[in-house]
Amino acid sequence: MANRREFTKQTRRDAMKRSGFLCEATGAMYGLTAGQRCNAPLSAGVEYDHIVLDANSKDNSLENCAACCIKCHRWKTANHDTPMAARTVRMQDKARGIRAAPVKKLQGAGFPVSEKSARRQSKPHLPYRSLYREEQP
Ligand SMILES: [Zn+2]
Repeated sequence: MANRREFTKQTRRDAMKRSGFLCEATGAMYGLTAGQRCNAPLSAGVEYDHIVLDANSKDNSLENCAACCIKCHRWKTANHDTPMAARTVRMQDKARGIRAAPVKKLQGAGFPVSEKSARRQSKPHLPYRSLYREEQP
């Protein structure tokens, strides 16, 4: 996130030192089991994660900084701070290769309901057909 304040270089140095060059991500917040620490070597890539991601508090202290492997950081970014239900659905979707469709911008006031969602909402109706064409005045 571009507007989020980041840790200082010194905090990053301290976090790296504390980590022993092993991923500090611990517990369910990072997709691990409770109390389990990732411990992946950080030589392959490290990201400094805000353990408590609170946009208002902007806690950039060492205590709120975890030196994480890329995988853990991605997992937390994607899954943290979301309702459990939505998280479960998304993880299931991911496992099943289901991805969100690209969001289309409205091109005008033409059709308020897309063809696709109309089909979802109701069974298709046969179009009304008159036996003869009415001339528009
Ligand atoms: Zn990790």
